[in-house]
Order: sequence, then structure tokens, then C-alpha cells
Amino acid sequence: MTSKSNKNTQLVTSGRKKAYTHGVVNPVVQRASTIVFDSVAELKKAAKTCGDKTLFYGRRGTTTHFALQEAITELEGGEGCVLYPCGAAAISQTLLSFLKTGDHILMVDNVYEPTRDFCDKILAGLGISTTYYPPTIGAGIKDYIKANTKVLFLESPGSITMEIQDVPAMVKVANEHHIMTMLDNTYGNGLHYRPLEHGVDISIQAATKYIVGHSDVMMGVAVANKKYWLTLRENSYLLGQCTSADDAYLALRGLRTMAVRLNQHEKAAIEVATWLEQHELVDHIRHPAFATCPGHEFFKRDFDGSNGLFSIVMKAGEQAAIDAFLDSLHYFKMGFSWGGFESLVTANLTMKGLRSDTGWDLGPVIRLHIGLEDVDDLINDLSQALEVYKQHL
Ligand SMILES: *Cc1c(COP(=O)(O)O)cnc(C)c1O
Repeated sequence: MTSKSNKNTQLVTSGRKKAYTHGVVNPVVQRASTIVFDSVAELKKAAKTCGDKTLFYGRRGTTTHFALQEAITELEGGEGCVLYPCGAAAISQTLLSFLKTGDHILMVDNVYEPTRDFCDKILAGLGISTTYYPPTIGAGIKDYIKANTKVLFLESPGSITMEIQDVPAMVKVANEHHIMTMLDNTYGNGLHYRPLEHGVDISIQAATKYIVGHSDVMMGVAVANKKYWLTLRENSYLLGQCTSADDAYLALRGLRTMAVRLNQHEKAAIEVATWLEQHELVDHIRHPAFATCPGHEFFKRDFDGSNGLFSIVMKAGEQAAIDAFLDSLHYFKMGFSWGGFESLVTANLTMKGLRSDTGWDLGPVIRLHIGLEDVDDLINDLSQALEVYKQHL
């Protein structure tokens, strides 16, 4: 069921048991806190499974959640999936499910900014230390390992600067040292990259992005292998993690069309990036499918595709040029998040606060998310805004 050619079929068919759908196409939206039992025997039976695909208590999920969890587990190829109220919760609660005071973690230096802040502000306060490592370190990660290193955390491609990691080489070192591995797979989405197939223990996604796909729901998911599944499930439950049935329904609806949306995002982003690459103001493109992106060879080796997200490194420019550029864009809206149907833009002049181990001495970075608009409209929009940028140089 996990071969590449079956992925589209899988996205359409997964999680559609009659017990969840009651005979229609989509799962019933089953909102619940209390589940009621007809007999002591029934209650005891439910308690035994603790709500793993059976009704027990609302926080353990209902059939709507089970349908989504099954579909995501199939997509990522793991033992089971926990749902969280957002991607940031999926990251923080997965880490908290396995760490204790005195532990040390290895965190990639281009990690999503709130993940960094969680380590520096919350884990540090709990007596859990973090070392940041360069995204291109590969097997060299072994020099960063300490006696108390518990978790190796990866994000590939990393946020904003998009470096792709040599995951198998790093997982090999981690395994040799009995260190568990987690990977933020929001970019890889399960369709284009499945970390567990490369030996990673837990794959985490901000489902808020491409799974939901319509910028209207926050959700996080974590899929674990057999070794870590029960601990992840139980500890996330104890940490109080749950989502609404309505959000689970919307996430599953988004998932059904993820493959066709991704195809269009991918095609359009490559067109826009190819145009930008030739632009006089652009130094280079940080798009995993482009040779100018560090770790491009690992992308070619390990991924099945790219999507709408990439960055441009500008040759030069100050804040005034960036601000004028952003203000003059029409279709690219300024905003965080990505993965919806709309085009978005963010910009960083110095990458200040976004990396600590590796510096940044290149030009300003503009990150684009290419939505489902017509490509020529997007290129015309960028073209006129880059003219405005130029006037401020
Ligand atoms: C957006 C994002 C998150 C956080 O997801 P939220 O649902 O916004 O909390 C985590 N990791 C990456 C790489 C992201 O882009």
C-alpha cells in the first residue's frame, strides 16, 4: 500500500470504513465529550483499548478523529497518529512526551522559529539543554553527541533557507548512539517525503499547511513507528492534547485533494522560480528542486516532489527596499503560514534570531508560497514589485 503509484488511490480511500462514514462518502462529524456505556461489560471492554479506534472518552477521539488518524498513518507509513491543536503543539508535545530534566537534544539550526523558541524558553527552564547544528552536517552530527543526548530533531528542508538534510546518514549515527529521531515533515507532507521510510522514529507535520490546504484550520499531527507509538499516544493524552471533530473533518477533506493541489503548486512554483532565477536583482534561488539549494542532491535522492514554497536570496537590499517591495505586491499577501490555495510572501533582511550555530552573510531572503492563481499574474506581480525594490537600492 505504500508504493508510489498507489499514493493517489490511498489518499482517496484511506480512513473510509463504514463504521466512520455510516455509508456516505465522508465520515460523520461526531462531536463528543462523554461517551455513554450500556453495561459494565461494555465500559470495561472500551477501557481496555483506551480509545484506540474505539469510543472511550471525547479526549481520546471519536470516529471522525479515527478516520483522519488512519488516513495520516497510511500516508506517512507508521504505527499510529496523534492529532494536536496545531503544528507547534505537535512539536512541543512530541518532545515533552520523551524528554526529562537533564536530557540534551540536538536541533537543526534552520528550524522553524517557534520550535527554536520552545527549546530556548521552555525546555531550558525544565533543565533540558539544546545544541544547534548546521543543517548540512550529515554524518558529522556524531561530534555533537553528548552522553545525555536523547533526541536528534531534524527539519528538512528547513524553514526559510530551505537546506535539505542527509537524513539516512544522520539516522544511522543516531541509531548507533541509541538516540531517537524526530523530523518536522511539514514540507514533505507524507506524499513527497516519508521520514519513517528513512529510519526516522517520529514524523511531525503542521497539518495546518498542505493537509488542510485552505487556510482555515489549525492542526498538528505526529506519526510514530512501532517502538515509540504507545508512549507518544499515552503521553500526548496525559498532556491534554486533542482536537475538535469539526477540524478533524476539514483536515480529512483537505487531505483528499492534496495530491492534485500539490501538483499544481509544484508546477507553478518551478515556473515562477525559473523566471526569478534570471532576474538581475536575484542572487540565487533556495528551492529544493534547484541545484542552487544546499542539499539539492538529497532532495533528488529522497523526495518524490516539491511544492509551492521556496525562497529567493537577493543580491543586495535594505529594509526600505524590502518594505516597498512587500507593499507593492498585489496577489502575494503578507502573512505567516503557507500551504493554502493563496500566494503569500514574507521577508528577512538579516535572519537575525533565526539561526545561532551558522551565520548568515548573504543578502535579504524573500520567501514565497506560490498559490493556485494563474502563473502569469504572479510573475507580473513580482516583476512590478521588483522594479519598486530596484528604485530603493
Ligand atoms: C507552520 C509550521 C509549523 C507550525 O504549525 P502551526 O500549525 O502554525 O502551529 C511547524 N513547522 C513548520 C515547518 C511550519 O512551517
